[in-house]
Amino acid sequence: MANLNIDSVKDRTFDAIVIGSGMSGGWAAKEFTDKGLKTLVLERGRDVKHLKDYPTTNLYPWEFPHHGVLPDDVQKANPIVNRCYAFGEDAAHFFVKDAEHPYVQEKPFDWIRGYQTGGKSLLWARQTQRWSDFDFEGPARDGFAVDWPIRYADIAPWYSYVEKFAGISGNRDGIPELPDGEFLPAFPLNAVETFFSNHVKKTYKNRHVISARCAHLSKPNQIHLDQGRGQCQERTLCQRGCPFGGYFSANSSTIPWALKSGHCTLRPHSVVESIIYDEKKGKATGVRVIDANTKEAIEYYANVIFVNAAALNSNLILLNSTSGRFPNGLGNDSGTLGKYVAFHNYSAHINAEYDGAKEWTTDGRNPAGGGYIPRFRNVYKQETNFLRGYAAGFSAYRWQQNSSDGIGQDLKNNLVKKDLSGWHVGSHMMGETIPKETNYVALDKSLKDPWGIPQLKISVDYDDNDEKMKKDYVEQMTEMFTSAGFTNIKASTDHRAPGLDIHEMGGVRMGNDPKTSMLDKWHRLHACKNVYVTDGASMTSTSCQNPSLTYMAFTARAVDHAIGEMKKGNV
Ligand SMILES: Cc1cc2nc3c(=O)[nH]c(=O)nc-3n(C[C@H](O)[C@H](O)[C@H](O)COP(=O)(O)OP(=O)(O)OC[C@H]3O[C@@H](n4cnc5c(N)ncnc54)[C@H](O)[C@@H]3O)c2cc1C
Ligand code: SF4
Repeated sequence: MANLNIDSVKDRTFDAIVIGSGMSGGWAAKEFTDKGLKTLVLERGRDVKHLKDYPTTNLYPWEFPHHGVLPDDVQKANPIVNRCYAFGEDAAHFFVKDAEHPYVQEKPFDWIRGYQTGGKSLLWARQTQRWSDFDFEGPARDGFAVDWPIRYADIAPWYSYVEKFAGISGNRDGIPELPDGEFLPAFPLNAVETFFSNHVKKTYKNRHVISARCAHLSKPNQIHLDQGRGQCQERTLCQRGCPFGGYFSANSSTIPWALKSGHCTLRPHSVVESIIYDEKKGKATGVRVIDANTKEAIEYYANVIFVNAAALNSNLILLNSTSGRFPNGLGNDSGTLGKYVAFHNYSAHINAEYDGAKEWTTDGRNPAGGGYIPRFRNVYKQETNFLRGYAAGFSAYRWQQNSSDGIGQDLKNNLVKKDLSGWHVGSHMMGETIPKETNYVALDKSLKDPWGIPQLKISVDYDDNDEKMKKDYVEQMTEMFTSAGFTNIKASTDHRAPGLDIHEMGGVRMGNDPKTSMLDKWHRLHACKNVYVTDGASMTSTSCQNPSLTYMAFTARAVDHAIGEMKKGNV
């Protein structure tokens, strides 16, 4: 019996444990296993294998039972996730349903999740921009958060590293506030997007409309073919899972790569309840898991633990990892764990029409989504009554229209006679929000989830800075649209709850001072050096770029550091 036990502990012991198999966890798995380390990836959801588990990927519109629209009862049962634009009949199976994974909204918060191998990397819109020093230096310059312990030079080589493997399309635009990367060819702007881009370049200093940079294989390199991925066919059905591996997801790229190494064990249906801290050793020794199906508790052990459960779940796991040494959550000597949560403000839009370029159509599709307007407010100097700034999407499109007038043969003729609409243009705001102590997550004292783990209580809201920024976006974009000759301009703001941007960040922030932050410059807990957090939880501030590329680069850099520490015998 004793021997069996020892064997069992041996079987459950690894060099590294990675919690979460999504965008960032996939990178941790790949990097550890590339270096030959025996790695356990714990994933709370089901396993979703590339190709095999994309049930809708090749369906025609008429093959969906409800023509792509979810039935009323499903929408009503899921008011939160139903607000996400990608929650349709073709991809609903990749989203967490509201009732299955409850949480407490002290203030309204739309928490959008994907619990499966690959996490939300199956569902993302693939927009990928680097940060610059204007972002890393922001908190210190504007005095709204602790200083980042790193700068662009620390992360630049790691951006290059992950971009080459993931495959990012884009142009080298030479904009200092949006550094160029290792790009595959960009998806070009269409006629009206190009017109607006040229107009903005001529009319404004330091404003740009560029081709969106995105994680699509516009022209694959050998490293992508080696992953079994192929060229993007521009179907724009990506949220279903791509049969070509045309966009980057953990499912098509990092996870199968790690599994192929022979050093990776992926355990789905494994809800990490907490991290085990050994007071005598002064370090973490493993994790406690609840099997999602049997509800059995199991422990796994490793020298180093990477927490990649996505920002708010990583907070939850640390908050729930209490011990005599850390009664308020693992590594929480500063008392900042769960605090300074921030997100992106997407609550302003603008639409208009353009009465020109009628000779041009929009044949084909653009999986990058059109154009991107990098942040232009408060970059080189403080010029507004709010802190920081916003980026914006921009796209122009025509659609096919037909008339349903008439009856009988007239109606049939009208329905098959397709005509193109005039040009429409649209933009949405992507604003930075300021991390505040009062925007926090905590464990609910009484409510538990179906696995006996305390539910997460979320208390996050907008502030006056966000309102001023929204107003400025509407004013600036209205002016830019007007000067370009766009007509019928309609700007709108909404009162959406935070969360729908799906860029929640913070709670386990990085910083130089252990008294005011949780993580050091290598993403290690200041107070528990063999636990690394490299997802959105680690973000000291949010900037306004889409964040996932930065999580990937952070993760690859942190694994490199962890392996160095292991070699030195420090962990
Ligand atoms: C519709 C949509 C569009 C988006 N568009 C963009 C975009 O254009 N650009 C961009 O940068 N970002 C975008 N995002 C956000 C992007 O998907 C996330 O930033 C990214 O996936 C976060 O990576 P992650 O590794 O932190 O989390 P995830 O990819 O969500 O992975 C976390 C994994 O951890 C698992 N997990 C959670 N808790 C536990 C636990 N206790 N035990 C074990 N496993 C656990 C989850 O099941 C999941 O698989 C979008 C998201 C959505 C849904
Ligand atoms: S647009 Fe490209 S990545 Fe998306 S589903 Fe189509 S082929 Fe795949």
